Amino acid sequence: MEKGVSRIIIVGGGSAGWLSAGVIAAEHRIDAQAKQRFELVLIESPDVPTIGVGEGTWPSMRATLQRIGLSETDFIRECDASFKQGTWFRNWLTGDGDTYSHPFTVPTGFADINLVPHWLALTAPPQFADAVTPQTALFADCLAPKQITTPEYAFVVNYAYHLDAGKFAELLRRHCTERLGVKHVKANVSQINSAGNGDILSVTTDRAGDIAGDLFIDCTGTASLLLGEHFEVPFQSQQAYLFNDTALAAQVPYADQDQAIQSCTHSTAQTAGWIWDIGLPTRRGTGHVYSSAHISEDEATAQLLAYIREIAGDEAAAAIVPRKIRFEPGHRREFWHRNCVAIGMSSGFIEPLEASALVMVELAAGMIADQLPPTRDLMDVVAKRYNRKFLRHWNQIIDFLKLHYVLSARNDSPYWQDNRDVTSIPDRLAEQLSLWRYRSPWHQDAEAVDDLFPTASYQYVLYGMGFRTEPRHTGSRQQDQHRRQAAELFGRNAARAKQLRQALPGNRELLNKVREFGFQKL
Ligand SMILES: Cc1cc2nc3c(=O)[nH]c(=O)nc-3n(C[C@H](O)[C@H](O)[C@H](O)COP(=O)(O)OP(=O)(O)OC[C@H]3O[C@@H](n4cnc5c(N)ncnc54)[C@H](O)[C@@H]3O)c2cc1C
Repeated sequence: MEKGVSRIIIVGGGSAGWLSAGVIAAEHRIDAQAKQRFELVLIESPDVPTIGVGEGTWPSMRATLQRIGLSETDFIRECDASFKQGTWFRNWLTGDGDTYSHPFTVPTGFADINLVPHWLALTAPPQFADAVTPQTALFADCLAPKQITTPEYAFVVNYAYHLDAGKFAELLRRHCTERLGVKHVKANVSQINSAGNGDILSVTTDRAGDIAGDLFIDCTGTASLLLGEHFEVPFQSQQAYLFNDTALAAQVPYADQDQAIQSCTHSTAQTAGWIWDIGLPTRRGTGHVYSSAHISEDEATAQLLAYIREIAGDEAAAAIVPRKIRFEPGHRREFWHRNCVAIGMSSGFIEPLEASALVMVELAAGMIADQLPPTRDLMDVVAKRYNRKFLRHWNQIIDFLKLHYVLSARNDSPYWQDNRDVTSIPDRLAEQLSLWRYRSPWHQDAEAVDDLFPTASYQYVLYGMGFRTEPRHTGSRQQDQHRRQAAELFGRNAARAKQLRQALPGNRELLNKVREFGFQKL
Protein backbone atom coordinates (compact mmCIF):
# COMPACT_ATOMS: atom_id res chain seq x y z
CA MET A 1 0.00 0.00 0.00
CA GLU A 2 1.24 3.52 -0.77
CA LYS A 3 2.46 5.53 2.18
CA GLY A 4 0.08 8.39 3.05
CA VAL A 5 1.10 11.91 4.08
CA SER A 6 -0.72 12.74 7.27
CA ARG A 7 1.89 13.91 9.75
CA ILE A 8 3.71 17.16 9.07
CA ILE A 9 6.64 18.32 11.18
CA ILE A 10 7.69 21.96 11.04
CA VAL A 11 11.08 22.76 12.59
CA GLY A 12 11.39 26.45 13.53
CA GLY A 13 9.07 28.93 15.22
CA GLY A 14 9.83 32.24 13.50
CA SER A 15 7.38 34.00 11.18
CA ALA A 16 8.01 31.32 8.54
CA GLY A 17 7.27 28.39 10.86
CA TRP A 18 4.11 29.80 12.41
CA LEU A 19 2.71 31.26 9.18
CA SER A 20 3.23 27.90 7.46
CA ALA A 21 1.63 26.08 10.39
CA GLY A 22 -1.38 28.42 10.31
CA VAL A 23 -2.01 28.18 6.58
CA ILE A 24 -1.61 24.40 6.40
CA ALA A 25 -3.55 23.68 9.60
CA ALA A 26 -6.42 25.98 8.60
CA GLU A 27 -6.70 24.26 5.23
CA HIS A 28 -6.60 20.74 6.59
CA ARG A 29 -8.81 21.43 9.60
CA ILE A 30 -6.77 19.65 12.21
CA ASP A 31 -9.01 18.99 15.15
CA ALA A 32 -7.14 17.63 18.15
CA GLN A 33 -10.38 16.83 20.00
CA ALA A 34 -11.82 14.82 17.11
CA LYS A 35 -8.48 12.98 16.90
CA GLN A 36 -8.36 13.28 13.14
CA ARG A 37 -5.50 11.43 11.57
CA PHE A 38 -3.91 14.55 10.14
CA GLU A 39 -1.34 16.01 12.54
CA LEU A 40 0.88 19.06 12.49
CA VAL A 41 3.71 19.46 14.98
CA LEU A 42 5.90 22.56 15.26
CA ILE A 43 9.25 22.14 17.02
CA GLU A 44 10.88 25.34 18.17
CA SER A 45 14.22 25.79 19.91
CA PRO A 46 13.93 27.48 23.32
CA ASP A 47 17.53 28.67 22.86
CA VAL A 48 17.94 29.88 19.27
CA PRO A 49 16.27 33.29 18.87
CA THR A 50 14.23 34.21 15.81
CA ILE A 51 15.75 36.76 13.44
CA GLY A 52 13.43 39.40 14.94
CA VAL A 53 13.16 41.64 11.87
CA GLY A 54 10.77 41.47 8.90
CA GLU A 55 8.25 44.20 9.53
CA GLY A 56 7.04 45.01 6.02
CA THR A 57 4.44 42.86 4.24
CA TRP A 58 2.50 42.72 0.96
CA PRO A 59 -1.28 43.06 0.45
CA SER A 60 -1.40 39.25 0.11
CA MET A 61 -1.04 39.15 3.91
CA ARG A 62 -4.69 40.20 4.27
CA ALA A 63 -5.87 37.08 2.42
CA THR A 64 -3.40 34.93 4.36
CA LEU A 65 -4.62 36.17 7.75
CA GLN A 66 -8.21 35.65 6.64
CA ARG A 67 -7.39 32.14 5.46
CA ILE A 68 -5.87 31.35 8.84
CA GLY A 69 -9.01 32.67 10.51
CA LEU A 70 -7.53 35.64 12.37
CA SER A 71 -9.60 38.72 12.98
CA GLU A 72 -8.01 41.87 11.55
CA THR A 73 -8.90 43.79 14.69
CA ASP A 74 -7.07 41.29 16.91
CA PHE A 75 -4.11 41.26 14.54
CA ILE A 76 -3.78 45.05 14.59
CA ARG A 77 -4.19 45.28 18.33
CA GLU A 78 -1.79 42.48 19.19
CA CYS A 79 0.98 42.92 16.62
CA ASP A 80 1.48 46.67 16.98
CA ALA A 81 0.51 46.70 13.29
CA SER A 82 -0.10 49.68 11.03
CA PHE A 83 -1.22 50.08 7.42
CA LYS A 84 1.29 50.04 4.59
CA GLN A 85 0.34 51.28 1.13
CA GLY A 86 3.64 50.93 -0.69
CA THR A 87 7.18 52.29 -0.60
CA TRP A 88 8.49 55.82 -0.89
CA PHE A 89 12.04 56.05 -2.24
CA ARG A 90 14.39 58.96 -1.59
CA ASN A 91 17.87 59.63 -3.04
CA TRP A 92 17.87 56.53 -5.23
CA LEU A 93 18.30 58.41 -8.53
CA THR A 94 20.74 61.27 -7.89
CA GLY A 95 21.21 61.36 -4.12
CA ASP A 96 20.12 65.01 -4.12
CA GLY A 97 16.70 64.63 -2.52
CA ASP A 98 14.97 62.95 -5.50
CA THR A 99 11.87 60.90 -4.61
CA TYR A 100 9.40 58.49 -6.19
CA SER A 101 6.77 56.01 -5.01
CA HIS A 102 5.84 52.38 -5.61
CA PRO A 103 2.22 52.10 -4.42
CA PHE A 104 0.21 48.89 -4.05
CA THR A 105 -2.58 50.01 -6.37
CA VAL A 106 -2.01 49.28 -10.06
CA PRO A 107 -2.48 52.19 -12.49
CA THR A 108 -6.12 53.06 -13.14
CA GLY A 109 -7.55 51.10 -16.06
CA PHE A 110 -4.50 48.79 -15.98
CA ALA A 111 -6.41 45.79 -17.34
CA ASP A 112 -7.27 47.64 -20.57
CA ILE A 113 -4.90 50.49 -21.18
CA ASN A 114 -1.18 51.10 -20.78
CA LEU A 115 -0.91 54.68 -19.52
CA VAL A 116 2.89 54.89 -19.85
CA PRO A 117 3.11 56.14 -23.46
CA HIS A 118 0.43 58.73 -22.74
CA TRP A 119 2.18 59.89 -19.57
CA LEU A 120 5.50 60.10 -21.45
CA ALA A 121 3.82 62.31 -24.05
CA LEU A 122 2.59 64.85 -21.46
CA THR A 123 4.35 68.19 -21.29
CA ALA A 124 5.41 68.86 -17.66
CA PRO A 125 3.94 65.59 -16.36
CA PRO A 126 3.43 64.94 -12.64
CA GLN A 127 5.43 62.01 -11.23
CA PHE A 128 4.35 58.76 -12.90
CA ALA A 129 2.71 57.19 -9.85
CA ASP A 130 0.93 60.46 -8.97
CA ALA A 131 -0.51 60.63 -12.49
CA VAL A 132 -1.80 57.07 -12.67
CA THR A 133 -3.10 56.29 -9.17
CA PRO A 134 -4.73 58.33 -6.43
CA GLN A 135 -2.93 56.26 -3.76
CA THR A 136 0.32 58.23 -3.60
CA ALA A 137 -1.65 61.36 -2.68
CA LEU A 138 -2.27 59.66 0.69
CA PHE A 139 1.43 59.14 1.44
CA ALA A 140 2.40 62.74 2.23
CA ASP A 141 -0.28 63.23 4.89
CA CYS A 142 0.12 59.71 6.37
CA LEU A 143 -3.49 58.83 5.55
CA ALA A 144 -5.11 55.43 6.08
CA PRO A 145 -6.32 53.13 3.28
CA LYS A 146 -9.84 52.75 4.73
CA GLN A 147 -12.29 54.00 7.33
CA ILE A 148 -13.42 52.46 10.61
CA THR A 149 -16.71 51.50 8.94
CA THR A 150 -14.90 49.57 6.18
CA PRO A 151 -15.23 45.89 7.09
CA GLU A 152 -12.24 43.79 8.17
CA TYR A 153 -9.76 43.16 5.36
CA ALA A 154 -11.80 45.23 2.85
CA PHE A 155 -10.28 48.47 1.58
CA VAL A 156 -10.83 51.81 -0.07
CA VAL A 157 -7.30 51.62 -1.51
CA ASN A 158 -5.16 48.46 -1.51
CA TYR A 159 -2.94 47.94 1.54
CA ALA A 160 -0.68 45.63 3.54
CA TYR A 161 0.80 46.00 7.03
CA HIS A 162 3.84 46.99 8.99
CA LEU A 163 4.10 44.82 12.08
CA ASP A 164 6.21 43.81 15.06
CA ALA A 165 7.74 40.47 13.98
CA GLY A 166 8.07 39.10 17.53
CA LYS A 167 4.45 39.89 18.42
CA PHE A 168 3.29 38.47 15.10
CA ALA A 169 4.95 35.09 15.74
CA GLU A 170 3.46 35.06 19.24
CA LEU A 171 -0.09 35.77 18.00
CA LEU A 172 0.25 33.07 15.34
CA ARG A 173 1.56 30.61 17.93
CA ARG A 174 -1.45 31.18 20.20
CA HIS A 175 -3.91 30.97 17.32
CA CYS A 176 -2.31 27.84 15.84
CA THR A 177 -2.11 25.97 19.15
CA GLU A 178 -5.42 27.10 20.65
CA ARG A 179 -7.64 27.19 17.55
CA LEU A 180 -6.04 25.13 14.81
CA GLY A 181 -4.85 22.06 16.68
CA VAL A 182 -1.13 22.54 16.02
CA LYS A 183 1.04 20.73 18.54
CA HIS A 184 3.90 22.87 19.85
CA VAL A 185 7.12 21.25 21.07
CA LYS A 186 9.79 23.43 22.67
CA ALA A 187 13.01 21.55 22.08
CA ASN A 188 16.26 21.68 20.15
CA VAL A 189 16.57 19.42 17.15
CA SER A 190 19.96 17.80 17.52
CA GLN A 191 19.92 15.11 14.85
CA ILE A 192 18.13 14.24 11.63
CA ASN A 193 17.45 10.52 11.13
CA SER A 194 17.18 8.97 7.68
CA ALA A 195 14.81 6.27 6.48
CA GLY A 196 16.10 3.45 4.29
CA ASN A 197 15.01 5.26 1.11
CA GLY A 198 16.93 8.45 1.98
CA ASP A 199 13.90 10.42 3.22
CA ILE A 200 13.89 11.97 6.67
CA LEU A 201 12.35 9.47 9.08
CA SER A 202 12.46 11.57 12.25
CA VAL A 203 14.29 14.31 14.09
CA THR A 204 15.91 13.76 17.48
CA THR A 205 15.28 16.48 20.04
CA ASP A 206 16.93 17.17 23.38
CA ARG A 207 13.68 17.24 25.41
CA ALA A 208 11.03 15.37 23.47
CA GLY A 209 12.84 12.37 22.03
CA ASP A 210 12.48 11.37 18.39
CA ILE A 211 9.67 12.95 16.40
CA ALA A 212 8.71 11.15 13.20
CA GLY A 213 6.77 12.53 10.26
CA ASP A 214 5.82 12.13 6.60
CA LEU A 215 6.71 15.65 5.45
CA PHE A 216 9.29 17.88 7.17
CA ILE A 217 9.18 21.65 6.74
CA ASP A 218 12.50 23.33 7.43
CA CYS A 219 11.88 26.77 8.96
CA THR A 220 15.13 26.89 10.92
CA GLY A 221 16.21 30.24 9.47
CA THR A 222 19.65 30.69 7.98
CA ALA A 223 20.83 27.48 9.73
CA SER A 224 18.75 25.51 7.19
CA LEU A 225 19.24 22.42 9.35
CA LEU A 226 17.23 19.98 7.26
CA LEU A 227 17.53 21.08 3.64
CA GLY A 228 20.95 22.72 3.83
CA GLU A 229 22.81 20.86 6.54
CA HIS A 230 21.26 17.37 6.34
CA PHE A 231 20.52 17.09 2.63
CA GLU A 232 23.39 19.35 1.60
CA VAL A 233 21.31 21.11 -1.04
CA PRO A 234 23.77 23.77 -2.24
CA PHE A 235 23.29 27.45 -1.49
CA GLN A 236 23.54 29.69 -4.56
CA SER A 237 24.94 33.07 -3.69
CA GLN A 238 23.53 36.01 -5.64
CA GLN A 239 26.02 38.52 -4.31
CA ALA A 240 27.51 39.03 -7.76
CA TYR A 241 24.22 40.79 -8.63
CA LEU A 242 23.04 42.22 -5.32
CA PHE A 243 25.83 43.30 -3.00
CA ASN A 244 24.14 44.02 0.34
CA ASP A 245 25.12 41.53 3.04
CA THR A 246 24.80 43.35 6.38
CA ALA A 247 22.04 45.15 8.23
CA LEU A 248 22.10 47.38 11.28
CA ALA A 249 18.62 47.39 12.83
CA ALA A 250 17.28 49.85 15.41
CA GLN A 251 13.99 50.72 17.08
CA VAL A 252 13.31 54.43 17.34
CA PRO A 253 10.75 56.03 19.69
CA TYR A 254 8.30 58.67 18.47
CA ALA A 255 8.90 62.22 19.69
CA ASP A 256 5.34 62.19 21.03
CA GLN A 257 2.52 59.66 21.14
CA ASP A 258 0.40 61.55 18.62
CA GLN A 259 3.05 61.75 15.91
CA ALA A 260 1.69 60.74 12.48
CA ILE A 261 2.37 57.16 11.36
CA GLN A 262 3.71 56.83 7.81
CA SER A 263 1.45 55.14 5.28
CA CYS A 264 4.36 53.53 3.45
CA THR A 265 7.85 52.19 4.03
CA HIS A 266 10.45 54.93 3.57
CA SER A 267 13.59 53.80 1.78
CA THR A 268 16.45 56.30 1.68
CA ALA A 269 19.51 55.44 -0.39
CA GLN A 270 22.96 55.95 1.15
CA THR A 271 26.45 55.75 -0.33
CA ALA A 272 26.63 51.94 -0.06
CA GLY A 273 23.11 50.74 0.68
CA TRP A 274 19.84 52.14 1.94
CA ILE A 275 17.93 52.83 5.17
CA TRP A 276 14.44 51.48 5.84
CA ASP A 277 12.02 53.34 8.07
CA ILE A 278 8.78 51.65 9.09
CA GLY A 279 6.13 53.32 11.24
CA LEU A 280 4.37 51.16 13.84
CA PRO A 281 1.88 52.59 16.36
CA THR A 282 4.35 52.56 19.28
CA ARG A 283 7.74 53.03 17.55
CA ARG A 284 9.57 53.18 14.25
CA GLY A 285 11.63 50.27 12.96
CA THR A 286 14.67 51.47 11.05
CA GLY A 287 17.81 49.90 9.73
CA HIS A 288 20.67 50.34 7.32
CA VAL A 289 21.27 47.53 4.87
CA TYR A 290 24.58 47.80 3.05
CA SER A 291 27.42 46.07 1.28
CA SER A 292 30.29 45.37 3.68
CA ALA A 293 32.67 45.35 0.71
CA HIS A 294 31.82 49.00 0.04
CA ILE A 295 31.55 50.63 3.46
CA SER A 296 32.90 49.99 6.97
CA GLU A 297 30.57 49.18 9.86
CA ASP A 298 31.57 52.44 11.59
CA GLU A 299 30.63 54.52 8.56
CA ALA A 300 27.39 52.59 8.05
CA THR A 301 26.51 53.13 11.72
CA ALA A 302 27.29 56.84 11.42
CA GLN A 303 24.92 57.12 8.43
CA LEU A 304 22.15 55.31 10.31
CA LEU A 305 22.56 57.51 13.37
CA ALA A 306 22.57 60.64 11.20
CA TYR A 307 19.26 59.47 9.73
CA ILE A 308 17.79 58.79 13.18
CA ARG A 309 18.95 62.22 14.34
CA GLU A 310 17.07 63.71 11.39
CA ILE A 311 13.79 61.89 12.13
CA ALA A 312 13.84 61.69 15.94
CA GLY A 313 16.40 64.14 17.29
CA ASP A 314 19.80 63.96 19.01
CA GLU A 315 18.57 62.39 22.23
CA ALA A 316 16.90 59.45 20.48
CA ALA A 317 19.96 58.87 18.29
CA ALA A 318 22.31 58.94 21.29
CA ALA A 319 20.35 56.11 22.95
CA ILE A 320 20.49 53.76 19.93
CA VAL A 321 22.77 50.74 19.81
CA PRO A 322 22.04 49.09 16.45
CA ARG A 323 21.83 45.32 16.16
CA LYS A 324 24.06 43.86 13.44
CA ILE A 325 22.73 41.09 11.19
CA ARG A 326 24.94 39.42 8.58
CA PHE A 327 23.46 37.49 5.67
CA GLU A 328 24.57 36.20 2.31
CA PRO A 329 22.14 37.10 -0.47
CA GLY A 330 21.06 33.94 -2.25
CA HIS A 331 18.88 30.86 -2.17
CA ARG A 332 19.10 27.08 -2.18
CA ARG A 333 19.44 25.35 -5.56
CA GLU A 334 16.14 23.59 -4.90
CA PHE A 335 13.65 24.07 -2.08
CA TRP A 336 11.78 20.78 -1.87
CA HIS A 337 14.02 17.73 -1.74
CA ARG A 338 12.65 14.25 -1.03
CA ASN A 339 10.21 14.68 1.92
CA CYS A 340 11.64 18.02 3.07
CA VAL A 341 10.70 21.52 1.99
CA ALA A 342 12.41 24.69 3.20
CA ILE A 343 10.38 27.85 3.81
CA GLY A 344 11.60 31.28 4.91
CA MET A 345 15.26 32.14 5.55
CA SER A 346 16.20 28.45 5.32
CA SER A 347 15.29 28.51 1.62
CA GLY A 348 17.04 31.83 0.97
CA PHE A 349 17.02 35.57 1.46
CA ILE A 350 18.16 38.35 -0.83
CA GLU A 351 17.68 41.61 1.07
CA PRO A 352 14.81 43.61 2.61
CA LEU A 353 14.22 45.89 -0.42
CA GLU A 354 10.55 45.53 -1.50
CA ALA A 355 9.90 43.20 1.49
CA SER A 356 9.62 40.06 -0.60
CA ALA A 357 10.46 37.45 2.08
CA LEU A 358 7.19 37.02 4.00
CA VAL A 359 5.17 36.96 0.78
CA MET A 360 7.33 34.02 -0.36
CA VAL A 361 6.46 32.28 2.93
CA GLU A 362 2.77 32.91 2.25
CA LEU A 363 3.08 31.53 -1.29
CA ALA A 364 5.05 28.50 -0.16
CA ALA A 365 2.66 27.64 2.67
CA GLY A 366 -0.31 28.24 0.36
CA MET A 367 1.02 25.89 -2.31
CA ILE A 368 1.78 23.17 0.24
CA ALA A 369 -1.67 23.54 1.79
CA ASP A 370 -3.40 23.45 -1.60
CA GLN A 371 -1.34 20.71 -3.19
CA LEU A 372 -0.44 18.57 -0.21
CA PRO A 373 0.17 15.20 -1.84
CA PRO A 374 -1.95 12.40 -0.41
CA THR A 375 0.85 9.85 -0.88
CA ARG A 376 4.63 9.82 -0.76
CA ASP A 377 4.84 8.84 -4.45
CA LEU A 378 2.94 11.92 -5.52
CA MET A 379 5.18 14.10 -3.38
CA ASP A 380 7.95 13.96 -5.98
CA VAL A 381 5.59 15.31 -8.65
CA VAL A 382 4.49 18.21 -6.43
CA ALA A 383 8.11 18.86 -5.40
CA LYS A 384 9.23 19.15 -9.03
CA ARG A 385 6.51 21.69 -9.80
CA TYR A 386 7.19 23.56 -6.56
CA ASN A 387 10.91 23.85 -7.32
CA ARG A 388 10.22 25.16 -10.83
CA LYS A 389 7.75 27.75 -9.57
CA PHE A 390 9.89 28.99 -6.70
CA LEU A 391 13.05 29.21 -8.77
CA ARG A 392 11.08 31.49 -11.12
CA HIS A 393 9.99 33.58 -8.11
CA TRP A 394 13.56 33.89 -6.82
CA ASN A 395 14.83 34.90 -10.26
CA GLN A 396 12.15 37.55 -10.48
CA ILE A 397 13.04 38.91 -7.05
CA ILE A 398 16.69 39.17 -8.11
CA ASP A 399 15.82 40.96 -11.35
CA PHE A 400 13.28 43.30 -9.80
CA LEU A 401 15.52 44.29 -6.88
CA LYS A 402 18.48 44.79 -9.19
CA LEU A 403 16.34 47.10 -11.35
CA HIS A 404 16.32 49.66 -8.49
CA TYR A 405 20.13 49.80 -8.49
CA VAL A 406 20.71 49.64 -12.24
CA LEU A 407 18.54 52.68 -12.89
CA SER A 408 20.37 54.89 -10.42
CA ALA A 409 22.44 57.73 -11.82
CA ARG A 410 24.37 58.14 -8.54
CA ASN A 411 28.10 58.52 -9.02
CA ASP A 412 29.08 59.43 -5.49
CA SER A 413 30.54 56.05 -4.57
CA PRO A 414 31.92 52.86 -6.15
CA TYR A 415 28.83 51.01 -4.83
CA TRP A 416 26.51 52.68 -7.30
CA GLN A 417 29.02 52.45 -10.13
CA ASP A 418 29.62 48.76 -9.44
CA ASN A 419 25.86 48.22 -9.42
CA ARG A 420 25.68 49.47 -13.01
CA ASP A 421 28.60 47.37 -14.20
CA VAL A 422 27.21 45.13 -16.95
CA THR A 423 28.77 42.05 -15.39
CA SER A 424 26.58 42.61 -12.31
CA ILE A 425 23.31 42.73 -14.28
CA PRO A 426 21.48 39.41 -14.77
CA ASP A 427 21.02 38.58 -18.49
CA ARG A 428 17.23 38.36 -18.06
CA LEU A 429 17.07 41.91 -16.74
CA ALA A 430 19.48 43.26 -19.36
CA GLU A 431 17.25 41.79 -22.08
CA GLN A 432 14.12 43.30 -20.57
CA LEU A 433 15.73 46.72 -20.26
CA SER A 434 16.75 46.67 -23.91
CA LEU A 435 13.15 45.93 -24.93
CA TRP A 436 11.71 48.54 -22.62
CA ARG A 437 13.73 51.26 -24.38
CA TYR A 438 11.18 51.15 -27.20
CA ARG A 439 8.07 49.79 -25.48
CA SER A 440 7.00 49.95 -21.86
CA PRO A 441 6.38 46.86 -19.70
CA TRP A 442 2.91 45.55 -20.27
CA HIS A 443 0.88 42.38 -19.87
CA GLN A 444 2.89 40.46 -22.49
CA ASP A 445 5.94 40.81 -20.24
CA ALA A 446 4.35 38.67 -17.53
CA GLU A 447 5.79 35.16 -17.60
CA ALA A 448 2.98 33.57 -15.63
CA VAL A 449 -0.30 34.56 -13.99
CA ASP A 450 1.27 34.22 -10.56
CA ASP A 451 4.33 36.39 -11.23
CA LEU A 452 5.48 37.87 -7.95
CA PHE A 453 5.84 41.42 -9.26
CA PRO A 454 3.18 42.52 -11.73
CA THR A 455 4.28 44.56 -14.71
CA ALA A 456 2.70 47.57 -12.97
CA SER A 457 5.49 47.35 -10.37
CA TYR A 458 8.11 47.51 -13.12
CA GLN A 459 6.35 50.60 -14.49
CA TYR A 460 6.41 52.34 -11.12
CA VAL A 461 10.12 51.75 -10.59
CA LEU A 462 11.22 52.43 -14.18
CA TYR A 463 9.32 55.66 -14.67
CA GLY A 464 9.72 56.74 -11.05
CA MET A 465 13.47 56.58 -11.69
CA GLY A 466 13.37 58.53 -14.93
CA PHE A 467 13.75 55.66 -17.41
CA ARG A 468 12.97 56.77 -20.97
CA THR A 469 10.99 54.63 -23.37
CA GLU A 470 10.68 55.94 -26.93
CA PRO A 471 7.39 54.39 -28.04
CA ARG A 472 6.62 53.96 -31.69
CA HIS A 473 3.63 55.92 -32.93
CA THR A 474 1.64 53.83 -35.34
CA GLY A 475 -1.15 56.35 -35.90
CA SER A 476 -3.73 53.59 -35.53
CA ARG A 477 -7.33 54.38 -34.66
CA GLN A 478 -6.89 52.49 -31.41
CA GLN A 479 -3.99 54.76 -30.44
CA ASP A 480 -6.21 57.83 -30.88
CA GLN A 481 -8.94 56.24 -28.84
CA HIS A 482 -6.44 55.35 -26.08
CA ARG A 483 -5.07 58.90 -26.04
CA ARG A 484 -8.55 60.23 -25.26
CA GLN A 485 -9.16 57.51 -22.70
CA ALA A 486 -5.79 58.21 -21.00
CA ALA A 487 -6.51 61.94 -20.73
CA GLU A 488 -9.81 61.11 -19.07
CA LEU A 489 -8.14 58.65 -16.65
CA PHE A 490 -5.46 61.17 -15.65
CA GLY A 491 -8.23 63.68 -14.86
CA ARG A 492 -10.25 61.07 -12.99
CA ASN A 493 -7.22 60.13 -10.87
CA ALA A 494 -6.54 63.70 -9.87
CA ALA A 495 -10.19 64.15 -8.83
CA ARG A 496 -10.21 60.85 -6.92
CA ALA A 497 -6.97 61.79 -5.12
CA LYS A 498 -8.59 65.02 -3.92
CA GLN A 499 -11.70 63.18 -2.81
CA LEU A 500 -9.75 60.49 -0.90
CA ARG A 501 -7.59 63.03 0.88
CA GLN A 502 -10.74 64.57 2.28
CA ALA A 503 -12.49 61.31 3.11
CA LEU A 504 -9.78 59.16 4.68
CA PRO A 505 -8.56 59.49 8.27
CA GLY A 506 -4.91 59.61 9.33
CA ASN A 507 -3.20 56.27 9.93
CA ARG A 508 -2.86 56.97 13.64
CA GLU A 509 -6.45 58.16 13.98
CA LEU A 510 -7.76 54.96 12.39
CA LEU A 511 -5.44 52.70 14.38
CA ASN A 512 -6.58 54.37 17.61
CA LYS A 513 -10.19 53.72 16.60
CA VAL A 514 -9.44 50.10 15.81
CA ARG A 515 -7.97 49.72 19.28
CA GLU A 516 -11.06 51.27 20.81
CA PHE A 517 -13.94 49.95 18.69
CA GLY A 518 -12.56 47.37 16.22
CA PHE A 519 -13.56 46.96 12.56
CA GLN A 520 -16.87 45.51 11.46
CA LYS A 521 -16.45 41.76 11.11
CA LEU A 522 -16.95 40.46 7.57
C1 LIG B 1 17.56 42.99 7.93
C2 LIG B 1 16.36 42.21 7.49
C3 LIG B 1 15.17 42.87 7.23
C4 LIG B 1 14.06 42.16 6.79
N1 LIG B 1 12.91 42.83 6.47
C5 LIG B 1 11.89 42.14 5.95
C6 LIG B 1 10.69 42.80 5.57
O1 LIG B 1 10.53 44.00 5.74
N2 LIG B 1 9.70 42.06 5.05
C7 LIG B 1 9.81 40.72 4.86
O2 LIG B 1 8.90 40.10 4.32
N3 LIG B 1 10.90 40.06 5.28
C8 LIG B 1 11.94 40.74 5.80
N4 LIG B 1 13.04 40.07 6.20
C9 LIG B 1 13.02 38.60 6.19
C10 LIG B 1 12.21 38.10 7.39
O3 LIG B 1 12.76 38.60 8.57
C11 LIG B 1 12.17 36.57 7.43
O4 LIG B 1 11.84 36.06 6.17
C12 LIG B 1 11.13 36.11 8.41
O5 LIG B 1 11.35 36.67 9.67
C13 LIG B 1 11.11 34.60 8.52
O6 LIG B 1 12.25 34.15 9.23
P1 LIG B 1 12.34 32.60 9.55
O7 LIG B 1 11.16 32.21 10.33
O8 LIG B 1 12.64 31.89 8.30
O9 LIG B 1 13.67 32.49 10.44
P2 LIG B 1 13.90 32.83 11.99
O10 LIG B 1 13.11 33.98 12.46
O11 LIG B 1 15.40 32.92 12.13
O12 LIG B 1 13.39 31.54 12.77
C14 LIG B 1 14.16 30.35 12.85
C15 LIG B 1 13.50 29.43 13.85
O13 LIG B 1 14.19 28.19 13.82
C16 LIG B 1 14.40 27.74 15.15
N5 LIG B 1 15.54 26.86 15.18
C17 LIG B 1 16.79 27.06 14.74
N6 LIG B 1 17.56 25.99 15.01
C18 LIG B 1 16.77 25.08 15.63
C19 LIG B 1 16.96 23.78 16.17
N7 LIG B 1 18.15 23.18 16.15
N8 LIG B 1 15.92 23.15 16.73
C20 LIG B 1 14.68 23.72 16.77
N9 LIG B 1 14.45 24.93 16.29
C21 LIG B 1 15.48 25.61 15.73
C22 LIG B 1 14.63 29.03 15.93
O14 LIG B 1 14.43 28.84 17.33
C23 LIG B 1 13.56 29.91 15.30
O15 LIG B 1 12.34 29.67 15.94
C24 LIG B 1 14.15 40.75 6.66
C25 LIG B 1 15.33 40.08 6.96
C26 LIG B 1 16.45 40.80 7.37
C27 LIG B 1 17.71 40.07 7.66
